[in-house]
Amino acid sequence: EIGRAALMTAADVAASVRYARAAQPAWAALSYRERAEYILRARKLVLAQTDEIANLISRETGKPPMEALSMEVVPTLDLMNHFARHTEKMLQREKIDIGQYGVFGRASYIFYKPLGVVGIISPWNFPWATPLDEVVMALMAGNAVVLKPSELTSLTALKIGAIFKEARLPKGLLEIVTGDGSTGTALVETGVDKIMFTGSVATGKRVAEAAAKHLTPVVLELGGKDPMIVLDDADLENAARAAIWGAFCNSGQACASIERCYVQESVAQEFIAHVVEETRTLQQGQPSVEGVDVGAMTNERQLQIVERHVSDALAKGARVETGGKRLTDTRGWFHEPTVMTNVDHSMEVMTDETFGPVLPIMTFKTDDEAVALANDSIYGLTAAVFGSDTRRTYAMAEKIEAGTVMINEVVYTHAVAQTPWGGVKQSGYGRTHGRLGLLEMVTHQHIHINRFYWAADVWWFRYTAEAGKLFQGFARRFTTGSILSASPLLPQIIRRLLKKNAD
Ligand code: NAD
Repeated sequence: EIGRAALMTAADVAASVRYARAAQPAWAALSYRERAEYILRARKLVLAQTDEIANLISRETGKPPMEALSMEVVPTLDLMNHFARHTEKMLQREKIDIGQYGVFGRASYIFYKPLGVVGIISPWNFPWATPLDEVVMALMAGNAVVLKPSELTSLTALKIGAIFKEARLPKGLLEIVTGDGSTGTALVETGVDKIMFTGSVATGKRVAEAAAKHLTPVVLELGGKDPMIVLDDADLENAARAAIWGAFCNSGQACASIERCYVQESVAQEFIAHVVEETRTLQQGQPSVEGVDVGAMTNERQLQIVERHVSDALAKGARVETGGKRLTDTRGWFHEPTVMTNVDHSMEVMTDETFGPVLPIMTFKTDDEAVALANDSIYGLTAAVFGSDTRRTYAMAEKIEAGTVMINEVVYTHAVAQTPWGGVKQSGYGRTHGRLGLLEMVTHQHIHINRFYWAADVWWFRYTAEAGKLFQGFARRFTTGSILSASPLLPQIIRRLLKKNAD
């Protein structure tokens, strides 16, 4: 036991949402620059405590502190800077080109306005980066936030709260409600203005269903079974190193982990040899020990899923090339980094989210076959294609059903604050990060003005015979989208306008 957090009730959650609602209007009234001052102050505090934060994340999750630093703390420092400095530009009012209507004195603008209170429900695998990134985007957009972290990583979330408190963020703008699924349910039931949910497919469906009762919009960032394709012209040594980091970082507990690998038959032997050799060099052990690459898993339930997938595959004829079992001589929940071959899509390890350090490798002959295998999944979060021919890798990337396809890269674009993150199919909907993610934090208001305030519209009453002729003219000429093509109608339009629409 490393600490305790409260199991907050529905009444506690409702009170937090009330505080958030009360605090939000004054926050929304601040300029972007003023809001950014708080974010940048919080960022300074994070920067001064990087080791302390990384150690806390490590103690709660079992990942090495160095991995907490590189995969969580460093990217959030960048994201805080990015959204503090660029939100104003990204949410500037936008003029819409309204074609021919513009000629008649009209103009249309989109204004981006805060939603109000955003509820964030987050998982345990990246307990610092996942919630903090969304807290920053929501706050910069002018919202208040109620954050429900995973019950397995409450202390890291409370640290996020402490940082913002120290940065003097006005009270109520960031409420943290610790607890389990019941606390999450209570948050959805309050009818906040948006739910940003990150977690499993099963819980995501429950959240969407509960949110529907209030018509609360939801972003769902759910699980994945992310494929990696290795083509015959790839740099095999580098692709092997990418595969093992992609599969074993965070002990395989990343939504974008490489969970299945497809290698072209002609280079399979060489690629697999590199993968196995590299995997055997990895150090696994207590995360706090220097030099450890692969730490522990965060909870035993997840470890049991990994064991089930491995034994299901073995029973169906798979071969373990290295690893393959739970470590029993070390205190904690460790599973060896495991490479498997002789696998196919009849095995759970190739179809269900394993969320553990297992890399099953299958071969393919043609590019089309590789794409078909990659797409043979209920998930579609990220995918990776490795090869040296840009035209070929792009062509494959476009055919793959995934929210993000990385070419000669794996996993990492969640760390790029400017790029959108999110899935297709059962991996969810909506986006986080980048401008698309920021737009999830606002409502879009369309304001349309008619500057010819003195003139009646030609389509208003009365529907006279002459009006009918004009409408026929519109059908033929106006809807083409070209102002020139509509010009022959001008005399009729002007006549109708001057007659104030009456015959
Ligand atoms: P989970 O679905 O069990 O829990 C996620 C959160 O939901 C937790 O805070 C939990 O307490 C809460 N919760 C549980 N029941 C709830 C309910 N009925 N209503 C509201 N909230 C409820 O997921 P997990 O095990 O914590 O996380 C692992 C999963 O998250 C994996 O599937 C992983 O792929 C996914 N994930 C996805 C992304 C992404 O960006 N797409 C990122 C990280 C993790």
